Amino acid sequence: MGSAPASTLSIRTPPFGWLGYPFFCKPVDEGRRINIPKIGSVKCKFHRPLEGTPKTLQIVHDCSEWYAVYTCEVHVNPLPQAGSTVGVDVGTRYFAITSDGEFVHNPRHLGSALGKLRIQQRTVSRRKKGGNRRRNAVQQVAKTHRKIRRSRQDFHHKTARKLVSEHDLIAHEDLKVSNMIKSNLARSISDVGWSAFFDILRGKAESAGRVVVRVPPQDTSQRCNACGHTCRENRDNEVFRCVSCGHEDHADWNAAKNILGRAVPLGVNGSGVSHTVV
Ligand SMILES: [Zn+2]
Repeated sequence: MGSAPASTLSIRTPPFGWLGYPFFCKPVDEGRRINIPKIGSVKCKFHRPLEGTPKTLQIVHDCSEWYAVYTCEVHVNPLPQAGSTVGVDVGTRYFAITSDGEFVHNPRHLGSALGKLRIQQRTVSRRKKGGNRRRNAVQQVAKTHRKIRRSRQDFHHKTARKLVSEHDLIAHEDLKVSNMIKSNLARSISDVGWSAFFDILRGKAESAGRVVVRVPPQDTSQRCNACGHTCRENRDNEVFRCVSCGHEDHADWNAAKNILGRAVPLGVNGSGVSHTVV
């Protein structure tokens, strides 16, 4: 959309401020402009046609660019039955491990951009306060953060899309991510963004008529999936070796099977593996 001075919209929290409109402001002039209350007709560029019934409009200010974000109510469009259920264990080493044995690599978006951010932040601190050059450098830092955010979001959408298209039921742990962020792994936990991923997953599942089950996370990594024996000694870093029955597995894969077992106690997954809870 066209630019307008920040003061007109009384946004005080750049670079990521927003204004919400609880009603739908229609695009006019064949989608080339929108009428926004108190501001008037603003030029805009629609990236894709609106689907369903538009309900709300948000005007978002992000890195000196303005976006009009419509929330639309759409009908559920159920996918054909896949005949498969899956448990997903999330982590920081791998982003996700499924009970079918699929390991999804953790792309570490923030981690890989840290070097660039450090250089850009150094440039900011070298430049004179209040100057245009410093403001431009601050803008560059904000743009790098936006790039990281968008890459992470894109990765979440692709991973969730794959899970939803391949499985009828997806089980994951009911994690209290906000508590975990207080730990010393805070940066890597925020970087993977599990909460945002689970939200996206739930949204995609709902619109595809799939089921997402949140299971209690207690002992999923210490319980043996073969015999049910639960103790701390079962797990040695990445290796799971049951001290009772001798069952060996990758620790996170074993956990993913336990997660599915909790969601579907008498279920069998697509590959015919039973997940009966002992
Ligand atoms: Zn065992």
